[in-house]
Amino acid sequence: MYLEPRVASRLSVIPEPIALLRKQIDAEIITADHPEFEVARKTQDITFDVVPYAIVKVESAEDVAATVDFAREIGFPLTVRSGGHSLAGFGVADDAVVVDFSKMKQVSVDPASGIATVQAGATSGDIVAAAQPYGLALTTGDTASVGIGGLTTGGGIGFMVRKYGLTIDSLVSVQVVLADGRIVTASKSEHPRLFWAIRGGGGNFGIVTEFTFQLEQVGLVLGGDIVLPATRAVVRGYLDYVTNAPEELTTIAHIMHAPPAPYIPEERVGEVVLQILTVWTGSPEDGEHALAPLRALGTPVADTIHPMEYGDIYQYTAHQNMPHAAALRMMFADGLSDRAVDEILASVASSPSPYSIIQLRGLGGAAARVGNEETAFAHRDRAFFVAIIGIWLDPSEDPAPHRAWTAEIWEKIADEGSGVYVNFLSKEGDARIREAYPGKTYERLVEVKTMYDPENLFQFNQNILPRG
Ligand SMILES: Cc1cc2nc3c(=O)[nH]c(=O)nc-3n(C[C@H](O)[C@H](O)[C@H](O)COP(=O)(O)OP(=O)(O)OC[C@H]3O[C@@H](n4cnc5c(N)ncnc54)[C@H](O)[C@@H]3O)c2cc1C
Repeated sequence: MYLEPRVASRLSVIPEPIALLRKQIDAEIITADHPEFEVARKTQDITFDVVPYAIVKVESAEDVAATVDFAREIGFPLTVRSGGHSLAGFGVADDAVVVDFSKMKQVSVDPASGIATVQAGATSGDIVAAAQPYGLALTTGDTASVGIGGLTTGGGIGFMVRKYGLTIDSLVSVQVVLADGRIVTASKSEHPRLFWAIRGGGGNFGIVTEFTFQLEQVGLVLGGDIVLPATRAVVRGYLDYVTNAPEELTTIAHIMHAPPAPYIPEERVGEVVLQILTVWTGSPEDGEHALAPLRALGTPVADTIHPMEYGDIYQYTAHQNMPHAAALRMMFADGLSDRAVDEILASVASSPSPYSIIQLRGLGGAAARVGNEETAFAHRDRAFFVAIIGIWLDPSEDPAPHRAWTAEIWEKIADEGSGVYVNFLSKEGDARIREAYPGKTYERLVEVKTMYDPENLFQFNQNILPRG
């Protein structure tokens, strides 16, 4: 078996410490001498290439607690991987012990109460599969393979955010392993400050092993996409409408090159378009009225909207499940000037990758009815989510042109927004982490961090430093 030199060099240091952990738990532990190590150390981003010490495939909260105790006592870096989609690459790190949730993906739904208990390794797709047979759904993100562990601890903004809020707004309680190895429940009545911090503060405070959510009765939606030629007037029309539309309508829009999808006329593939992914959760008749202003923005290149099961919308983002690399910058905005719209259109037209996109999401609705200080996600009053995402698929490709593209357009439009969603941060430094937590939020998070993780055991995240 060929082993990369960096992996082979780990072999000599494996046996002693890991033998201690192996005595305590039955969970599978993958070290560099294991045939699956090469695969197990990879994450979704093809550019992250790190060599952890051990990957512990936990099967219970007790396994997690033993792994936490082990890493703390021996002094290993400790990372957490639920779905492995961290845009900053935090799920795995060099020399780390990785708490890997790939064997904890169970979702149990009580159809009578609409309560779901979800193990941390489950994905949005796993939740759809378990809830949809009962006409139930959870408001999560736009990609089926994203893990509920990272998504929820950051907030969770998806296809029903305007109707049912963020994923954390449906959270009833969590089971958490703390830095001292205790297993506790946090909710509005138990460890309330911890519960506040976990709803948006990322993985700073503990390792969540199980989430309890209140699902919504959703049933059929009007879903699909409307693809329009991307002009300033069309983008302006989109921005003006989507935050004022009925809150049953949530959209995620991409300014992008039209993909070679079966429903895009062949001669339009590659054209710069505005793709508006749409989920309408009200009656179909009202939905047709609500969608009319979007359809009237231009002559559609394609319009695939039709009644569907909620989970079918994920077919439109199935390509996002594939391993890829991303150069990312994100901000919230309350509006975008014509100048910014023109810059966005020009930059997509000249992007070095046909896969790169600028993503716009209209917010408001239910997400905005929760106060900025009620959870650690403190951007609820912002109108738009704006993300520049340079994307490439080949690990041997030079990342420089893609990173330069993202940096260049960011330079041109960043002054029109502020703040950032923690789950759309890459490694951008402390000032940007503070931007994720405006107002009193950052200081409150420091207090909770100091209380629950004073030694900063959980530091592979957008790290909040404990007071020291
Ligand atoms: C293709 C793609 C599409 C996305 N779309 C959306 C979207 O529509 N909406 C949205 O809100 N976000 C979206 N995101 C961002 C996503 O929410 C974050 O990247 C999230 O952190 C991924 O979670 P994960 O469990 O898959 O990642 P992981 O890499 O497993 O975890 C990321 C980090 O989250 C923390 N964490 C993970 N699990 C736990 C746990 N059990 N307990 C405590 N902390 C934990 C840890 O700090 C960990 O390092 C998207 C990301 C990608 C790559």
